This record gives sequence, structure tokens and C-alpha cells, in this order.
Amino acid sequence: MGSIVLFGPPGAGKGTQAQRIMEHTGLPQISTGDMLRAAVKASTPVGIEAKGYMDRGELVPDDIILALIEERIKEPDAANGVMFDGFPRTVPQAVALSEMTSISHVLAIEVPDERIVERICGRTTCGRCGIVFHDTFNPVPSSGCPCGSYEEKRRADDNEDTVLNRLHAYHLQTSPLAEWYEEKGLFHRVNGDRAINEITADLLSLLE
Ligand code: AMP
Repeated sequence: MGSIVLFGPPGAGKGTQAQRIMEHTGLPQISTGDMLRAAVKASTPVGIEAKGYMDRGELVPDDIILALIEERIKEPDAANGVMFDGFPRTVPQAVALSEMTSISHVLAIEVPDERIVERICGRTTCGRCGIVFHDTFNPVPSSGCPCGSYEEKRRADDNEDTVLNRLHAYHLQTSPLAEWYEEKGLFHRVNGDRAINEITADLLSLLE
């Protein structure tokens, strides 16, 4: 198996499913969003440049993203394939990726637009272990986070104004990739508007 791309709009559940697929396949998750948020937090030159785009819900320029990916996939843990989450998001990113590594599956998690806003607003993450929760749809268990302690984090861009821009960027710049990967025979769709476990089961069976 080569590398996997998890594809879908913001709030589709890519991060949640990536964590679960990682447990089953051992493939490391590479989330450009997480890498950018870490860069913003550390005030690196990349973080300083990316922050404005992220706050507005716009895509960060391809050259910045591709430089991050090029470095990341040189790490030893990426030698046997990885799971990309939130990357590629433009056709030039996908073309560049195809020259860097081989992709065996593009797994699209489909969620209708009208469900996205409610899924994104209400999303929380445990700052300690990274598990994603949702106030209504996937609340933190009463016993606490499975990692033993729960540190609630909310993303700065998980608000209604930014979500609409992110959704717009998805339709305009990212969704054309579906056709690009479909032509290559790599594209698989799952209905992401269901219980988390059902979606994981479908994704894993596509990888068998
Ligand atoms: P995410 O965590 O994947 O929702 O990404 C959060 C934000 O980071 C996005 O709204 C973009 O501003 C930026 N970003 C993440 N990945 C990419 C990418 N592959 N291309 C361009 N911008 C990205």
C-alpha cells in the first residue's frame, strides 16, 4: 500500500478518522493544518506568514505548503507511506505530491454543506492527546478524555464567519481534485454523515 489521502470539506471528520486509521494501519498522520498551527504557535517565519490566511479561512499559498510536506516526508516514519489529512488542497499541490510519493487511495468523506457549520462550531480538541470531540455530536465522556485528563482547546478558525470562507475555498480550489483523482482510479467516497464507527469501518474496508 502506498500513501493515503483523506479528502473532504472542513469538518468532515478527516482528523478523527485519521487517528482511527492510524491505530489500525500504523501509517502516520500528516496534517498540514496541524503543522501550520504548530508553526503559528511557535512564531516561525512560516507561521507568521500563514496566520493571516488561516484566520481569514483562505488557503495558505502552495509554495509554503509544499516546502512543509517535502521536509516532513523525509522523516524516517514516513518511509512506508503516510496518511495525508487536509493535503493536497489544490491541483498544483496534488501534481507536486504525485512527483514526491505514490498515492494508493484517496478516501473522500462526504458531508453536505448544511451540516458543516454545526459540525465545526462546537468542535473541541484535547490539548493533551489531540482527540477531537464535539459539544453535541461527540461529547467528551463523563469519565473524561481516554488519555486521562482533558485540556479543552478550540481552534481560532472554528467560527461561523471563517467556516463559510473555508467552505468556499473547498468548493472552488479543492473539490476539482476529486475529478483529477477519479480519472486516476484512486478515488473512493464514503458517506460521512453517519456514526463515527460506521465511517471508520467503511474506510478500513476500502483499504483492505
Ligand atoms: P485544517 O486544519 O486542515 O482545517 O486547516 C486549517 C487551515 O490551514 C486552512 O483553513 C488553511 O488556511 C490552512 N491549510 C491547511 N492545509 C492546507 C493546504 N494543504 N493548503 C493550503 N492551506 C492549508
